[in-house]
Amino acid sequence: MNATSKSLRNLSGLKRSRLIRDDRRAALADVAARYAIAITPAMAGLIDPNDPDDPIARQFVPDPAELESRPGESADPIGDRSHSPVDGIVHRYPDRVLLKLTHLCAVYCRFCFRREMIGPRAPALKSEALDEALAYIAGHPEIWEVVLTGGDPLVLSPRRLKQVVARLAAISHVAVIRIHTRMPVADPARITPALVRTLKARGKATYVVLHANHPRELKPAARAACARLVDAGIPMLSQSVLLRGINDDAETLAELMRAFVACRIKPYYLHHADLAPGTSHFATTIERGQELMRRLRGRHSGLCQPTYVLDIPGGYGKSPIGPNYLVSEAPQRYRVTDFNGAEHCYPPPT
Ligand SMILES: *Cc1c(COP(=O)(O)O)cnc(C)c1O
Ligand code: SF4
Repeated sequence: MNATSKSLRNLSGLKRSRLIRDDRRAALADVAARYAIAITPAMAGLIDPNDPDDPIARQFVPDPAELESRPGESADPIGDRSHSPVDGIVHRYPDRVLLKLTHLCAVYCRFCFRREMIGPRAPALKSEALDEALAYIAGHPEIWEVVLTGGDPLVLSPRRLKQVVARLAAISHVAVIRIHTRMPVADPARITPALVRTLKARGKATYVVLHANHPRELKPAARAACARLVDAGIPMLSQSVLLRGINDDAETLAELMRAFVACRIKPYYLHHADLAPGTSHFATTIERGQELMRRLRGRHSGLCQPTYVLDIPGGYGKSPIGPNYLVSEAPQRYRVTDFNGAEHCYPPPT
């Protein structure tokens, strides 16, 4: 095998690919000991090794700043553990659950909100635990939607996925199966027609939500992988994390949203970055995020508008965090801001 046909999984691999300098290896050894590393050939191929701020490299190449912590950071920033009734399930909202089938991902994002729970060192969900998780779903008729997440569920073989999808499809109250993945951009060749077929179940709706953060991730091979899903009748949505120096400028964010829409992927969420350990070098302010959302709304198609959300620390769930366009002035009297930023009274003065 040549060097570009395998994922990079350690510091020597990164160094050979010129993604880290030799004088940084010592500083990075502690980072590598603590957090999983993986960069697929498809992602590594997007990196310009001569650009120290390359937006793809920054997402996947470890940084000594990952050992710095700030107040408020937590190993479980969105409170998964306190809402986990059985292994593999997170049940925070009444009508939907997360089902975490694997702790593995094709790439390990340096800003991952589950970084303390994922990676090859984390224990996999055993088959008895999966039985128990599926029994939990079957025993809760209010569960209308199951979100397969992890890790990345699409690291599993089509055979395993087919079994899980079939077992979920057998639960009559589950109407929607949603898959959260980075695979179409991380390793587009894995989205084979056979894999796509396994994701569909008769009488159920399957959605795929793609995690991507920079327009450069949507290269022709990734676009073709998404097209295989959409052409098969699987609607796609996007989620992105607002990341300092990667996509926190109006042009890049707009280009990312347009790339999604051009791929028939409806922008869904723009996440304010979670308070995961060692991620302060990716943090933006909420004011910055709101300003970027205002710019997006002011200049681009309605199809290009995601909802900007914050996952409230402690397990209280996601909330939209603006910007707000409507202010109440008195009972039934409002001030509303238009896309240019001008304010108007509603109802209009008589
Ligand atoms: C994010 C999340 C969901 C999905 O939320 P939507 O707003 O429906 O996308 C479901 N359960 C948990 C625990 C979550 O964190
Ligand atoms: S793909 Fe998702 S779960 Fe995996 S490291 Fe990236 S953010 Fe975390």
